[in-house]
Amino acid sequence: MKIFYSSLQKKHVIKKEVYNGKAHSYNDKVSRIDSILKAFKIAGNYEIVVPDILPYDALLSVHDEDYLKFLESAQNLKNDEIICPYVFPCDNRISRHEPFIPKRAGYYCFDAGTSLMNHTWSAAVASASAAYSAAMHTKKTGEATYALCRPPGHHASKNMFGGYCYLNNTAIAAKYLVRSGNVMIIDFDFHHGNGTQSIFYDSSDIFYLSIHAHPKIEYPYFTGFEDEIGIDDGVNYNLNIPLMPLCSPKEYFIALQKGIKKAFKIMDPDYIILSAGFDIEAGDPIGHFNMSIDDFYILGKELKLLNKPTIILQEGGYLVAELGKNVESFLNGFQS
Ligand SMILES: [Zn+2]
Repeated sequence: MKIFYSSLQKKHVIKKEVYNGKAHSYNDKVSRIDSILKAFKIAGNYEIVVPDILPYDALLSVHDEDYLKFLESAQNLKNDEIICPYVFPCDNRISRHEPFIPKRAGYYCFDAGTSLMNHTWSAAVASASAAYSAAMHTKKTGEATYALCRPPGHHASKNMFGGYCYLNNTAIAAKYLVRSGNVMIIDFDFHHGNGTQSIFYDSSDIFYLSIHAHPKIEYPYFTGFEDEIGIDDGVNYNLNIPLMPLCSPKEYFIALQKGIKKAFKIMDPDYIILSAGFDIEAGDPIGHFNMSIDDFYILGKELKLLNKPTIILQEGGYLVAELGKNVESFLNGFQS
């Protein structure tokens, strides 16, 4: 299987985040990438491809131009400067008070856990490029591809960053693929993909199915409820399946199959994009489901049975020591 990844993605290095009001080590560590690459190297049957930088229009197909310009301006930060937004204009954004870094960095941000530094933009663009190249390859050949997207993307909306996400890699790939067919996104990250949901909430050519921890208990708290079904043309094209933390793998698989069955009644997609979050593993520092390495193999196998051209995009997964093995187990199941 072809793996899309660029070393530029390693240049985004943040040490700390604010979690429950306290300084905490940043969960989206560079070592996540090393863990995954190491597992691929040991397995020996993966080809790493460095993606070309995606066209700017691909970014504009999802994100507002002023938001992109803002993220790009973080390149002007000094080498050791990290900006962690902490003031957010939640209501009535007033245009005469333009956003700028560092003081109004919260203008386009929705949490205090996601920082900016001078390489954030280039790393995020490289991550989105990996997703875009994977989508191009799958469209051209029909082969399944995996993009090692880091920073992840599913929390980023058209004009907001947060949850370690800046550019919505999944949405960018979906916008590219939808030009030649319907797309179903299956998001199995522990956390609801609030950004992806918001981008496609009124769309009937891109279906968003998410199975995640219940937002009444877990991040992102404000979205991911069952009654969020889409609006306008998108009614019934958004399906959220919230599960209680610590649910068993058996419960998880039953819920997933139920969701897939329901989604396929509404849409028979030409392409599937998997927003693949491995923070559903037992022991993840910020995820609280109970999946094992063997469960990831089964998950890969079950999703392969849908028998569609599939793009697998890395989202969360923060138990660094196990992450690579889990990703490889999943891909192994998918290719079995
Ligand atoms: Zn997550």
